[in-house]
Amino acid sequence: MFQIDIMTLFPESVGDMLCESVLGRAQERNYIRINCWQIRDYTVNKQNQVDNYPYGGGRGAVMQADPLYRCWEHICQEAGKRLHTIFLSPCGKTFCQADARRLSTEYDRFILVCGHYEGIDERFIEECVDEELSIGDFVLTGGEIPAMAVADAVCRLVPGVLPDPECYENESHWAGMLEYPQYSRPEVWHGRAVPPILLSGHHANIAKWRRKQSILRTRERRPDLYEKLDLSSKQDKKLLAELEQEEHGTDGET
Ligand code: SAM
Repeated sequence: MFQIDIMTLFPESVGDMLCESVLGRAQERNYIRINCWQIRDYTVNKQNQVDNYPYGGGRGAVMQADPLYRCWEHICQEAGKRLHTIFLSPCGKTFCQADARRLSTEYDRFILVCGHYEGIDERFIEECVDEELSIGDFVLTGGEIPAMAVADAVCRLVPGVLPDPECYENESHWAGMLEYPQYSRPEVWHGRAVPPILLSGHHANIAKWRRKQSILRTRERRPDLYEKLDLSSKQDKKLLAELEQEEHGTDGET
C-alpha cells in the first residue's frame, strides 16, 4: 500500500481533510494510507513546547530540531527504513505535476514535514530532509495546506485511486498542456449552448476538437508551456493550419 506520513502540529485537521471524497474512499479500500503525526507528542518538556526564539534575534519563533527529529525517527523506525523526506517550504523548488508523478512512482512511502511560525531549525533540514518543495511564490502560516496539496496531487496518481489512468492522463499539465473546456447538462444554460460537436457522438471529431481547444488555451493562457510543446506530428500540424485558417483566413503557408 502507498503511504504518506505527514508531520504537523495539526494532525486532526489535515487527516480530516484527506479522508474526504476520492482519497477517503482510496484509504478505505487500502490503496493508500495517509498517517498524520503530532510533532508535539515528541517533546520532552512539560509544556510540550516545540518552538523557541531564533538565535541572532528577530521576531517570531522557530520550530526546534529535536522534537522534529524524534518524530521523524519514530516514523522511520515504524517503516523499518529511512524514508524519503520532504520539507514544505517557500524556499523549495516549485511543486509541479512532474513532481507528483515522480513521487507516486519512485517511492512507496515518504514523509512530508510541515513547518510553522518562522520555520524550522536548519540543522533538522541538513540531517533529515532530502528535498524542499514550495507550492508557489507566496508565504502561508504553515506547511499544512502545501502538504495536503502535495499529498492529494500524488495520491490521485497511485494505481486504483482513480478508476482509470485516463482520468488524469488527459488533464491539464499531464502532457505540458491545459485541458479543453468541459460541459455538462443542460444543453443550453442561461442562453449559452454546448458546442454542437460535443453532441454529435462522432468520437474522432470530438477528440480533434478537444485537442484543438487544448492547444488554443495553452497558447493563450500559458505561452511559457506552449513554447515547449512538440506539435510536430502530422495531426497537430493539420490542427495548427486549421486554427490559422479560422483566425486569419490563411493556412500559415504563405
Ligand atoms: N520564514 C519563512 C520564510 O521566509 O521562508 C516562512 C515561514 S512560514 C510563515 C511557516 C511555514 O509554512 C514554513 O516553514 C513552511 O512549512 C510553510 N509554508 C509557507 N509558505 C509555503 C509555500 N509557499 N510552500 C510550501 N510551504 C510553505
